[in-house]
Amino acid sequence: MSKYIFVTGGVVSSVGKGITVASIGTILKSRQISVTAQKLDPYLNVDPGTMSPYQHGEVFVTQDGAETDLDLGNYERFIDVNLTTESSVTSGQIYSQVIAKERRGDFLGGTIQVVPHVTTEIKDRFKLLAEKSKADVIIIEVGGTVGDIEGQPFLEAARQMRNEVGRDNILYVHVTLLPYLNSTKELKTKPTQHSVNELRRIGIQPDIIVCRSDYPISEEIRNKISLFCDVERKAVIPLTTVPTIYEVPLVLEEEGLGELITDKMKLKPQPPDLSQWQELVKLIKTPRQPVKIALVGKYVELQDAYFSVREALQHAILHHGRDLELVWVPSETLENNGDDSILRTVQGIIVPGGFGIRGIEGMVRAATYARENKIPYLGLCLGMHVMVIEFGRYALGSKDANSTEFNADTPHPVIDFLPDQKGQKIKGGTMRLGNYPCKLVDGSRAAKAYGQSLIEERHRHRYEFNNEYRERLEKAGMVYSGLSPDGRLVEVCEVADHPWMLACQFHPEFGSRPGHPHPLFRDFIGAAKDILREGAQPPLPLSSQY
Ligand code: GLN
Repeated sequence: MSKYIFVTGGVVSSVGKGITVASIGTILKSRQISVTAQKLDPYLNVDPGTMSPYQHGEVFVTQDGAETDLDLGNYERFIDVNLTTESSVTSGQIYSQVIAKERRGDFLGGTIQVVPHVTTEIKDRFKLLAEKSKADVIIIEVGGTVGDIEGQPFLEAARQMRNEVGRDNILYVHVTLLPYLNSTKELKTKPTQHSVNELRRIGIQPDIIVCRSDYPISEEIRNKISLFCDVERKAVIPLTTVPTIYEVPLVLEEEGLGELITDKMKLKPQPPDLSQWQELVKLIKTPRQPVKIALVGKYVELQDAYFSVREALQHAILHHGRDLELVWVPSETLENNGDDSILRTVQGIIVPGGFGIRGIEGMVRAATYARENKIPYLGLCLGMHVMVIEFGRYALGSKDANSTEFNADTPHPVIDFLPDQKGQKIKGGTMRLGNYPCKLVDGSRAAKAYGQSLIEERHRHRYEFNNEYRERLEKAGMVYSGLSPDGRLVEVCEVADHPWMLACQFHPEFGSRPGHPHPLFRDFIGAAKDILREGAQPPLPLSSQY
C-alpha cells in the first residue's frame, strides 16, 4: 500500500513548496523508495490550459496530454519520472465531476455537500494515483496557502486520509516563510505560528516544518518554532535560499529530512546516493565560459512563462561545460524597425511557444536575422510557425505569407488549420496534446541529434504546417526532417544552407532532465557555443616560449 506525504504552505505563496515537494521526491528516490507526486490546485478552472501565462506561468504538458501547473515540470525533472493526468487535480475538475455524478443520479436523491461528497471525490483522486503508480510514497502538494477559502476542501480531505490509512502511512509537512525585519535584524516566527494554528484549526498537526528564509536560521529560532508549533526540534528544517534550485535536495538531506521521513513513516530505505546531484551542483558552481542566447518571446516579463525552456537550456549548457547568459527579448521591441542591436551580441536565438498575434512580427524579424546571419536558431512550436512564416516570405517572395492564426485572409497560409480541424471554436480542450510519434529523416540534423529514427514528443497546439506549401519551400532549401508516421504532418523542419536552424512542432523542453539534456537543446547549444559574437576576439594561441 502507498503512503502519503501532504505538503502545505503557510504565510505567503511562492515560498518554494513545489521545489520542496520535488526535493523530498529526490531524497526518497535516492534511497530506492519509489515516489510519485500530485498537485492540488484550488482554482475553479478545469486546467490551466486556458489561463494566460501572466496569471499562471508556463503550462506544463504531460506525456498523456494533461495541461498542468509548472510544478509538475519540477517534479518530473527532480524525480525523473513521467507523470500522467492523475498527478494534476483542480477544484474545477472535482466540482464538475461531482455535479456530473449528481446529474446522472449517482447520489440517489441525497443532498450534495462539500463534506462528504467533494472531499470523497478528492480522496478518490489520491487513491487513483496510488493505485495507478503503485509508488511507495505519493507526495501531494496542496496549492495555495493555508487559510485560503478555496483550499479548505483539499485540506479537509488530507485530514480525513489520516484515519483511513493510519498514522504511520501519512505525514504532514508544512512549508513556511520566516520574514526578516531589517530594523531589528531578526527573523520572525509569529506568521509561522499563526499558519500552524490555522492548520490545527482544520485538524492537521504538522509533523515537519520546513522554514524558508533568505537569512541563516539560528538554533534559538528553531527551538522557538519547535516549542510554539509543537513539532520535534529535529523536525524544524531550515531551508535558506540557495543559488540553484538543484541544491535544495542536498540542503534538505544535510538537515536530516530524508532520515526523519523514513523513520516517521517506517519505510525501509537503502542508504542514500545523491552523488549525481552533488556533481551537478558542483558543476553549476564552477565558473564557466558563457554562451549568450536570446529568448525572443511575448511573455518575457514573466520568466516563469518559459520555465521548462530555461531549465532545458541549463541542462544543455551544463552538458557542454559552459554557462548560460540568457537575454530575454520582448518580441514587440523588434517590431516596426525597433532596435535589434541585442541580436548582434548573441550566439543563438530561441523562439519558444505562444499564442496570439502580439509580438509575432518581432519574432519573424529575429528568425530573418538568424537565417541571414547564420546564427543558430531553435524554434519550439510557435517558434516553428515563425520559422516557416519567415522562410515562406523569403521563398515565395511575398511579405504576406503568414499563419491563419495571425491573418485569417493571408494569400499564403503557410501555417493553417488542417482541413479536418476547420470549424473548431471552443478554446478549452481542442488542442493536439501530449505524446505523438514522429519519424526522422536519415542524415538530418534532427536524426543526428536523437541518434534514432522514431521518436515521441509532447505537443500542445492547434495549427499545422500547410502541406500545399511543402514543395515550394523545399525548393528554396527547407528540409522536412521529421514527419508524423503517416507523412501527413510536418513535425521538424530545418534550413539547409545554415549551420543550425531547426524548429519542431512539439515541445522538447518538457522532456529535458538535469544530467540528460534534450538532444535538440544539446545540439543547439553545441552549435551556438562555436559562434563568435560581434566584437569577440578568438583566443590567441600562446607560443610555448612565453
Ligand atoms: N499558437 C500556435 C498553435 O496553436 C502554437 C502553440 C504553441 O506554441 N504551443 O498552433
